[in-house]
Amino acid sequence: MGKPCQNVQNKYGIQITKFNFMTSKTAFKIQQGWLEHTRKVLSPHFDQRPDGQDISLLVIHYISLPPEQFGGGFIDDFFQGKLDPTVHPYFEEIYQVRVSAHCLIERNGRVTQYVNFNDRAWHAGLSCFEGREKCNDFAIGIELEGSNEQPFTDEQYQALTALSQAIMQTYPQINKSRIVGHCDIAPERKIDPGQFFDWERYLGSLSA
Ligand SMILES: [Zn+2]
Repeated sequence: MGKPCQNVQNKYGIQITKFNFMTSKTAFKIQQGWLEHTRKVLSPHFDQRPDGQDISLLVIHYISLPPEQFGGGFIDDFFQGKLDPTVHPYFEEIYQVRVSAHCLIERNGRVTQYVNFNDRAWHAGLSCFEGREKCNDFAIGIELEGSNEQPFTDEQYQALTALSQAIMQTYPQINKSRIVGHCDIAPERKIDPGQFFDWERYLGSLSA
């Protein structure tokens, strides 16, 4: 956790105060389902959970748009239902698909929240965890900007750890044994977060 501010001397020897704003290394705080001091892009692709008290699974995904390309801002567009089908042939196939996740972690570690954690985002699809179907009902979904071709970045692991800690603190039914990949709950359809996601590193970084 970073200090909220620190006093440093500039090269003229004058005391200045440097503020450390929220980065992927600092702790996240969740207030009424929203991450404080975090970028928000609101998605219309959500609805109410059948049981608002039952938030008990964390699902890790990857996404890249277009596939294997990073940083174009198209994931924001996709989750908002605003993807331009003329930009890329793949977008023509998917632009009408209505999906979302609660959060995205980009390659540089920047976190964006699309859906309130207390609401149901549409990320898991047909899915089953320990005999229970419709995982969206009780899950939080985090997307890492990535693919099955490239390792994730250190910044992404740092942000994912900090984000997961905050989620587990706020929703204590989620613990390490209830953090899974999309591939674990939809094994016939999905492979994400894929071969490059380092589960040992990630779960080992969580203190809870
Ligand atoms: Zn997925």
